[in-house]
Amino acid sequence: MRLSEAILLGSSIIKAKGGAIFYPDGSGCALGMGLAANGYTCNPFAGDGDALHLWPWLKQATVLPCCPTLLSEDGTTDVMSAIVHLFDFHVSEERDWTIEELCQWLASIEPPEPELQRSQPSPAQMPDRSVLHELKVT
Ligand SMILES: [Zn+2]
Repeated sequence: MRLSEAILLGSSIIKAKGGAIFYPDGSGCALGMGLAANGYTCNPFAGDGDALHLWPWLKQATVLPCCPTLLSEDGTTDVMSAIVHLFDFHVSEERDWTIEELCQWLASIEPPEPELQRSQPSPAQMPDRSVLHELKVT
């Protein structure tokens, strides 16, 4: 699942609260929402590493879309810091961004989802019906 989709989905699972991925009361930030949508339960010990495990490109460089020179002179930062800033400051505090806008921005910069490897059971893996029949009879 793309992170932008996971955050949107997770925003209906956990309560929004900036500053930490998860809080003991079950709330959390945008990354916590993304993790919650991927089956991570609200765990105060969940950290950046869990998000990086699912979305390694969070450490890639991007340009902060809101306050260009806040985090660095040329406006570049890593995607994770940009999400944290957008969520903690703009979505939670200033309320001049919505979680949907954050996800739209994220969708515009995140890499496409890698092709899922869908494995079809090969005929050899299918149960042999004659064997099943014999088992029933005996
Ligand atoms: Zn900003």
